[in-house]
Amino acid sequence: MSNSIGLYIHIPFCKHKCPYCDFFSGNADENAFDNYVIELKDKIKYWSEKAKRDVATVYFGGGTPSVLGADRLCDILDFIKFNFNIQNNAEITVEVNPDSAKTIDFEKMYACGFNRISMGMQTAVEDELRLLGRIHSIDDAKTSVERAKSAGFNNISLDLMMGIPNQTIESLEKSISFCADCKVTHISSYILKIEENTPFYKVQNKLKLADDDMQAEMYLRAVEMLDSLGYKQYEISNFAKQGYESRHNTNYWRCGEYIGIGPSAHSFFEGKRFFYSRSMDDFNNNKLSFEGTGGDEEEFIMLSLRLKSGLNYSEFEEKFGYTLPSYIIKKAKEYEKYGYTNVTDKSISFTPKGFLVSNSIISELI
Ligand code: SF4
Repeated sequence: MSNSIGLYIHIPFCKHKCPYCDFFSGNADENAFDNYVIELKDKIKYWSEKAKRDVATVYFGGGTPSVLGADRLCDILDFIKFNFNIQNNAEITVEVNPDSAKTIDFEKMYACGFNRISMGMQTAVEDELRLLGRIHSIDDAKTSVERAKSAGFNNISLDLMMGIPNQTIESLEKSISFCADCKVTHISSYILKIEENTPFYKVQNKLKLADDDMQAEMYLRAVEMLDSLGYKQYEISNFAKQGYESRHNTNYWRCGEYIGIGPSAHSFFEGKRFFYSRSMDDFNNNKLSFEGTGGDEEEFIMLSLRLKSGLNYSEFEEKFGYTLPSYIIKKAKEYEKYGYTNVTDKSISFTPKGFLVSNSIISELI
C-alpha cells in the first residue's frame, strides 16, 4: 500500500459570501491575503518537518483560492514543492470561481505546476445563479473554461448544484448539457443542503425549494444523463470521463492519509483525525483540535460505500486481517431486492437509487 499522503490547503477568502454557504470563508483585503500566505508557509514548513512523506496530490480549496491571484498561488505551490517531496505525476488542483478565473493568469499557474482546475459553476441558468447569490455569469464560466484550456489545462471539473430554488428537471438538464458542451473531464453534482447559520436557513420557508421526491428525481436524472454523456459515476456526487476521477478526493474515500492546512481544514495522519478550528487565531497559533482515532472498520466501510466500486471484501481483509463479517453481506443482500444495492462475491455497492438512502442503509449494516 502506498505511503504517500494528500495535502489540502484551505484558502478562507471569497469576494462575496453566498447566502447558502457554510464554509469558513469571508471577504478580505490584499494585506490580509499577504499575511495569510505568510502564516500558511509557516504551517507548511511545520508539517513538512513532521510528515516526511511523498505527496501524491495537492488540493487548494476554499473559499475561493483564485481570489489570491496567480502570483500568490504559485508562491505557495513553489514553497510546498521546496519543502515536500511532491511526486512527479502528482495531481495538483486549484478551485476557482468563474468570476476571478475570467482574468486570472492561467498560463502562470499551469507553468508553476497546477494541473487540475475545479470551477464552482453551480448552474448554467442565469436566474438560478442570481437566486444562489452567485456573482458570476454563465459567460464568465464559459470564458474561464476556455482560458484555462488554452493555457494548457486538460483536466477541468465543474461543480453543479441540484435542488436550487425554482430549479426544474429541464433547467438541470440545460446545466448538464452546458458542462458537456464545455468538454470538461469531471463534474461534481451536489444537492443543495440548507445549513444552519446561513441566510438561506432563515428564509427557507420563503424559498421554493425542491422537496425530497423532487431532489431524488433530479439526482437520478443527473446520474442517467451524465452517464449517457460519458461521465461515469464513481462516487455519490462525482462523475468523470475515464481516467479523470479526482485522485485527491478518492484518497479520502479510501481512508488514505492527508494533511489539511488552514482554518477549518481536517487531517487524517498516523491513525489520528484532527483539524484546525474555524478560527484564524487558532490557525496562526498552530492550535489543533483532535477528533480521535480514524481508519477503523466502520469508517472504512462507510467511506468505501460512497464509491461506486463499493466495499471490496479482499481489500477489507487485506487492511484488517480478517474477513468481512458475513452478517454485513447478508444485510446488504436484503436491500438488493429493492434495487438499492449490488452484492456480488467480491463487493457490496450502492445503485444510484441506493445512494439516495445510503446513510440509513449503512447504519443498518454496521
Ligand atoms: S464562492 Fe464558494 S466558498 Fe465562497 S461563499 Fe460562495 S459557495 Fe462559499
